[in-house]
Amino acid sequence: MRPFFIYNTLSRKVEEFIPLKPGVVTYYSCGPTVYLPQHLGNMRSYLFTDTLKRTLRLNGYEVRHVMNITDVGHMTSDQDGGEDKIEKTARAEGRSPKEVADYYTGLFIRNIELLRIEKPTVPPGQFCRATEHVPDMIALIGRILDRGYAYVAPSGVYFDVEKWRGANRMGRLSRQSLEEQFSEQRLEHASDKRSKHDFALWVLNQPHHLMQWDSPWGRGYPGWHIECSAMSMKYLGETLDIHSGGLDHVPIHHENEIAQSESATGKPFVRYFVHNAFLVGMEGVKISKSAGRFPVLADLAAAGIDPMAFRLFCFGAKYRSELAFSLDAVRAAQTNLDYIREFARGVPESIAHSPDSDWVESWFDRFHEAVNNDLNTPQALAVVLDLIGEAYRRGDKRIWNAMRRIDTVLGLDLESVRQQAASAILPPEIESLRAQRDEARKRKDFARSDALRSELQSRGYEVRDTPQGTLLHRRG
Ligand code: AMP
Ligand code: ZN
Repeated sequence: MRPFFIYNTLSRKVEEFIPLKPGVVTYYSCGPTVYLPQHLGNMRSYLFTDTLKRTLRLNGYEVRHVMNITDVGHMTSDQDGGEDKIEKTARAEGRSPKEVADYYTGLFIRNIELLRIEKPTVPPGQFCRATEHVPDMIALIGRILDRGYAYVAPSGVYFDVEKWRGANRMGRLSRQSLEEQFSEQRLEHASDKRSKHDFALWVLNQPHHLMQWDSPWGRGYPGWHIECSAMSMKYLGETLDIHSGGLDHVPIHHENEIAQSESATGKPFVRYFVHNAFLVGMEGVKISKSAGRFPVLADLAAAGIDPMAFRLFCFGAKYRSELAFSLDAVRAAQTNLDYIREFARGVPESIAHSPDSDWVESWFDRFHEAVNNDLNTPQALAVVLDLIGEAYRRGDKRIWNAMRRIDTVLGLDLESVRQQAASAILPPEIESLRAQRDEARKRKDFARSDALRSELQSRGYEVRDTPQGTLLHRRG
């Protein structure tokens, strides 16, 4: 087996990945807080998770992957300050928290489907909603209390950070002192916390909060961090192979998850912590919901950009490097996408089902080596583009078995693209709409041509303008 290397935030090193149990990887990734649309920065994080999963599978592992939906308990500050994000939206929009969470969960799922991001495998095809796991959280808080690392105060059950870690000890993951980690929150702590560093496991005595559950400590609701500890350990066991999220989760959320989980179980919580860098705007600032304005997947569609181009755009950058977003940058990725798809369309049935030429194997190996080297996806993409170029140069398209395997990681569904092209005789009514649109464009009747574009799109076709006229592809 070829070794797979990944950067572990715990050790600050690229390490060879070896799972606890041979052949199986347990993986938990932090999911969305469903109170606003997920922006393209969030999508970068889920695409990173998807590429990691697919690469692990390329290496022969079964991936047991859990991802949550945070539908309660995430305060407007990542610590305990402010208001529950979902309840804040619910009040502002005059809807119930459940209506808000359901709406944004639906939107999130539609977006990840458009990006062909695979859903979690545990439970199969499902996301774990925090509100459906409150008894697991209560049980975990009970264990932490039993071990003496939490205490009950009037305003909530708190994790005793200093007792766990010792005064002024550095955080294992963030390598920051408590002061550094919590400096922004100095003034916001509840007055009955023993220390400003302590964080809420369970919030009590907030009668205005709409979502409340009974607990041994009184009616209340869970803190955000305990959700991820409870759900990950419920499905994947007390020590996970991999846990991921964006870099913003390092200093607070993931530090707190480690503290809660390890204080309850006495075992290491995570063996490899991996974090993706941010998608930033052209001015270099992290794309975030708190900024008020943020790009979403629908903006790409409105600009005529295929979601798969955004997928390839992210693949073309190293996950540990910041990536600057602009529509033009994604359009450049669309050029690569078109090039790859164009090749796929030109591979006939006979070649697709015959063995690859001998020269192809070493190219596949180079792709595999690149993704196994801490997910060096820019290099892997360069290999793919070169491989296609080489096939053209040699006039030899017998590369399709390698391309199919490569596409298990790329996730572009190239075999469908190929098959559709192979059977791409358009139905007569679609062919007629296409011809009418070309006519309208020649006459510069753009209103008519736009109307025909919408008509074709509503019938399930991707419409692209080329110098040769309207190009149609049936959506997968
Ligand atoms: P949230 O819905 O805010 O809890 O975030 C969901 C996921 O997206 C988390 O793993 C975040 O760390 C990640 N994330 C948030 N903003 C960005 C960004 N601009 N670029 C990349 N990942 C991000
Ligand atoms: Zn989390």
